[in-house]
Amino acid sequence: LTFTAEEVMKRLKEDKIKFIDLQFTGLFGRFHHTTMDAKMFRIEDFADGLPKVDGSSIRGFTEIHESDLIIRPDPATYATIPWIEQAPTARLICDILSGGSKRDIFPRDPRGLAKKAERYCGEQGYDTSYWGPEVEFFVFDKLEVNTMTPYQGQSYHITSREAPWSSDNVGYALRLKDGYLPSAPGDTLMEYRNQCVDVLTNNFGIVCDAHHHEVATAGQCEIDIRFDTLVNAADSVQSYKYIVKNIAQKRNMMATMMPKPIALDNGSGMHVNVSLWNKGKNLFYDPDDDYAEMSQTARYFGGGIMEHAQALASIVAPTTNSYRRLVPGYEAPVYVAWSTGNRSAIIRIPAHYKGQKFSAMKRIEFRAPDPSCNPYLAFCAIMAAGLDGIRKKRDIGDPVKEDIFKMTPKRRRELGITQLPASLRQAYEALESDSAFLKPILDDETIEKIIEHEERENVEVSVRPHPHEFALYADV
Ligand code: GLN
Ligand code: MG
Ligand code: MG
Ligand code: MG
Repeated sequence: LTFTAEEVMKRLKEDKIKFIDLQFTGLFGRFHHTTMDAKMFRIEDFADGLPKVDGSSIRGFTEIHESDLIIRPDPATYATIPWIEQAPTARLICDILSGGSKRDIFPRDPRGLAKKAERYCGEQGYDTSYWGPEVEFFVFDKLEVNTMTPYQGQSYHITSREAPWSSDNVGYALRLKDGYLPSAPGDTLMEYRNQCVDVLTNNFGIVCDAHHHEVATAGQCEIDIRFDTLVNAADSVQSYKYIVKNIAQKRNMMATMMPKPIALDNGSGMHVNVSLWNKGKNLFYDPDDDYAEMSQTARYFGGGIMEHAQALASIVAPTTNSYRRLVPGYEAPVYVAWSTGNRSAIIRIPAHYKGQKFSAMKRIEFRAPDPSCNPYLAFCAIMAAGLDGIRKKRDIGDPVKEDIFKMTPKRRRELGITQLPASLRQAYEALESDSAFLKPILDDETIEKIIEHEERENVEVSVRPHPHEFALYADV
């Protein structure tokens, strides 16, 4: 579903819309909104934008003396929000423009940066890029939020109706790491996910393929959406998070994009599948490559991701909690390597049906991202790293066919396999020393704001004792 300004004006009438929710994304991925009486909305607002945002109150945006920002709704993103009962409401995703007389795109509008990434990609000779994010997330019972329940020497703030330690567990609890595709009643969330798919598809025009319960015990879900172009795919991720959280809320549950809420269980990733195209051809596909039907362009793009993996981590895995996910043993990547099947590597070339007929499916799967990232910025950074690899001809090298988790450190050194950052601090320090590749898309100030923000959150977490430290060190 994409609409023009005229079509939206017509839809507003047909759908009897009373309120228009204007939505946009902050620098660190938070989805914001401000709501307008539909009667006040004019078709010119699509061109001129509306002066409705105080940028100084949105983290990472503006200083107090230059605070006014303009939001300009994109008619293509029109969708009705079915769970709002009070009055028919539609949403529009907005671009952010600087206030004042010259209304350029605000330099830290993530959606504006994503558009810039698309233009940059076009200038390099690739008229289209396709992005297929696989967003995993946890759903917990709302009632149990903030109940601290001890389990295997760990403490939890949140538990699920499916969790073995749950108070209303009725005897069919899933075990840790045992949640992959169980049928009901093991999986209690099928109807919830069905409802999410209904809204994604019918209201938001986001094509869904399948949905499933993921590996973690406690209500871990994944709904697969169809790949799309860069800005559209990032819009879809924001809509997806918005929908799954709100439908959960309506069912007295909470959905969270926190990458690793439960110790000793799988975390949530947001694997990103990407390919570059020109004139209708997938340039990542090469039938003559025996190993993975992967072109030299794809090998360079992957090489760029590997070269900048540490700095990239700060943008695709941008929270302290992200680094509790990126540890061995939970299908999350730890090592800067690639392979076709091995899930311990950051890049995987997924298997697909062989042959020209399926050439559109050839893609690189980057496994480091998690859903706590800002999808606009994550796609910008991945694009910048990949195009840098193409420009510098950084071949991806040999695939690793063994399980890297089982290798000795010596063997890993022999193969030149490095590691992802082990902490947010290592990640933003890597970004500080390796940011030149991002410059065609992200300016210095944006990069500084990201580092500043991550440093602040890192300090917030590191000044607090960790629950497990009590188990280790409370020497009573
Ligand atoms: N949850 C895993 C991760 O953190 C991925 C599991 C899967 O999709 N196979 O990346
Ligand atoms: Mg998947
Ligand atoms: Mg998955
Ligand atoms: Mg995957």
